[in-house]
Amino acid sequence: MTVPRALILVVEDELQMRKFIRASLTSHGYRILEATSANEAMMLMTTQNPDLILLDLGLPDADGIDLTKQIREWSSVPILIISARGREDDKVLALDAGADDYITKPFGVNELLARIRVAERHARGVGNSPLAQILEFGEIKIDMNRREITRSTETIHLTPIEYKLLVLLALHAGKVLTHRQILKEVWGLSYVDQPHYVRVHMAELRKKIEIDPSRPKLIVTEPGVGYRLRE
Ligand code: CA
Repeated sequence: MTVPRALILVVEDELQMRKFIRASLTSHGYRILEATSANEAMMLMTTQNPDLILLDLGLPDADGIDLTKQIREWSSVPILIISARGREDDKVLALDAGADDYITKPFGVNELLARIRVAERHARGVGNSPLAQILEFGEIKIDMNRREITRSTETIHLTPIEYKLLVLLALHAGKVLTHRQILKEVWGLSYVDQPHYVRVHMAELRKKIEIDPSRPKLIVTEPGVGYRLRE
């Protein structure tokens, strides 16, 4: 017997887009629910308990960012924004509001499926569990019990801030973290308007963990938005 795939709530008012998503997801075994407004989405959220939400930002009765904030007040369900708004500010707003990821329209089936898989892994807590005390990314190994970072057999010495930065990114591997989220987690709420802190310390961290810090392979910059650690 096969395990039923995730139930995905698609919140999108454009018919063509909904058709495309429906075809892409159902052909890969996902079960889907469709909503064309924020109101309908909230109704389905509370009655059907979906595993993941694909959310368009421009809805007829509300903005997707407000809906994200509303959902985040009581649910940690993964929210993937699908939007034609491709500006950095829009992405940052959505991620800061609590969205897990952001896909700019137009996008292909494969990208959509890949981002859904990442969100599902996070939701299941793979590599993100407090019990997973050793995290590995390529040659880099983070031993959270011993607070020790190694590349192959060589120990890498990080400052406490660099260590916090790396662990934060590692616990959210594959997911974009905004400058604001990083500042809040590593430095505290009163530092959220100091993005240069992140830039300076990220540069130092990259010098230590990247083979070629000028062409980072591990910690990827999402220009104007934040950083993502590659899984
Ligand atoms: Ca729309």
